[in-house]
Amino acid sequence: MATHQPQDLREHYDVVVIGGGLGGMTAANVLARAGRSVLLAEQHHKLGGLATWFHRGKSVFDVALHGFPVGMIKSCRRYWTSEIADSIVQLKDIRFDNPMFSLSTTFDRGDFTRLLVERFKVPAANVERFFDAARTMNFYDDQATTAGQLFERFFPGRDDVVRLLMEPITYANGSTLEDPALTYGIVFSNFMSKGVYTFRGGTEHLIRLMQQDLRRSGVDVRTRCPVEKVHVSAAKKVAAVTLDGKRVAASAVISNANLLGTVFNLVGSEQWDADFLEQAKAVRLNNSSTQVYMALKPEMPLEESQCGDLLFSSTAPAFRTEMLLSRDVTSRTYSFYYPQSRPGLDRCIVVASTNANYADWSGLSKDEYKAGKQHLIEDTLRAIEKYVPDIRERLDYVEAATPLTFERYTRHLQGASFGTKFEGLAVSKALPEQIAGLYHTGSVGIIMSGWLGAVNYGVIVANDVDAWLMKGGGG
Ligand SMILES: Cc1cc2nc3c(=O)[nH]c(=O)nc-3n(C[C@H](O)[C@H](O)[C@H](O)COP(=O)(O)OP(=O)(O)OC[C@H]3O[C@@H](n4cnc5c(N)ncnc54)[C@H](O)[C@@H]3O)c2cc1C
Repeated sequence: MATHQPQDLREHYDVVVIGGGLGGMTAANVLARAGRSVLLAEQHHKLGGLATWFHRGKSVFDVALHGFPVGMIKSCRRYWTSEIADSIVQLKDIRFDNPMFSLSTTFDRGDFTRLLVERFKVPAANVERFFDAARTMNFYDDQATTAGQLFERFFPGRDDVVRLLMEPITYANGSTLEDPALTYGIVFSNFMSKGVYTFRGGTEHLIRLMQQDLRRSGVDVRTRCPVEKVHVSAAKKVAAVTLDGKRVAASAVISNANLLGTVFNLVGSEQWDADFLEQAKAVRLNNSSTQVYMALKPEMPLEESQCGDLLFSSTAPAFRTEMLLSRDVTSRTYSFYYPQSRPGLDRCIVVASTNANYADWSGLSKDEYKAGKQHLIEDTLRAIEKYVPDIRERLDYVEAATPLTFERYTRHLQGASFGTKFEGLAVSKALPEQIAGLYHTGSVGIIMSGWLGAVNYGVIVANDVDAWLMKGGGG
């Protein structure tokens, strides 16, 4: 990994990208391939952002690799490499277990139609109409209808159907019944087109391949390199960044850092119009997460048929946003990683995730925080015993992460797992209208979040930056 050496930095780059998450890396790669000089500055010691992993002994844990839509194959082939695209494989056994139903599915339109018609007894025509409505939603649609209202229109009074359709998407991008229906429709349809996919070989392998490609494309990649400030000229044009005390000039800057951190901390409130500032202040961050990472003893692996690949489990009688976020956890998503499907892994790994409120974890004393993490682990082990009764006997290692963990490693305000709520997208897109040459990319506005959303937004913003530079914007 190219660690930061400030003396080697050039005086000027066409583009400085702040942050090496999937959005930042993709934007950097696209621009360097287009012939731009690009500096990618990442504050952490490794690239990937939330798309990350960590080692403990002989175990490797993936943090955000539960699944993404098939579109990732096309995006990786076009903007990364065939080797990356060819390593993306489908997860075929997605399970649900809650007081309303227990089932297994391939999580695509065909199988969901079968389930909704045969098992949930919804008229086939209704199901078709719903899928078509969800698929045709786009950014320019009605933004006032909520996901809850959409469901009420197609499946009135059917809490069980709502749970089947909504619960996985809440985990995929943090959206809730109260968010605009289009944030649901776009992401749900992406999954329904062909199911849920993963990266064979794990996040570490993916990021290694991406890093190799960044180098081939000529990106100057620096890790352990926090950007402290974005400088703006009197003519409201981006001028430079300060990193490690050194000022580096740039024709354009793309921030992959948290949107609100970019606006208020990296740039500063004094640089924006009053209206824009109000708009930015009104942006709500998305929720955060907790996770419990479990490594099983190599000699005690699980059979794939026992738990499947991905299990949405809940003991809550109904699907409610506040219950999903509560520290009194009732809903968890389990990802099961098996040695036979993950080259290099000699044991089974299980990662249990919940959505979480930052406020429930911040402001605790050191002892309270430690006890909170221990409670989370104990609670999770108790919950997973339903599916793996002898989990404690099989367990080799266990560790927990909280919203504070995500905040610490990525600098996302409040440890936001999926950027901001919907209104953040308009603010993200408006940055260059306020300050010429300044852009934001990465997880934002729900629809641009997750691995696929972040990669695709990286491409969109890179193209905008390239077009602006081509028009002489940076001159
Ligand atoms: C627990 C969890 C599970 C998830 N599971 C999934 C999943 O299964 N599928 C899915 O599609 N998505 C999942 N996600 C969401 C997904 O990982 C993110 O949406 C996506 O990776 C975000 O990419 P990004 O481009 O926004 O960058 P981020 O990952 O947010 O990275 C931003 C980068 O900027 C760096 N940075 C910040 N400030 C500075 C600075 N001042 N100077 C330099 N660098 C800086 C950070 O260190 C970081 O590397 C999950 C997220 C979490 C938290």
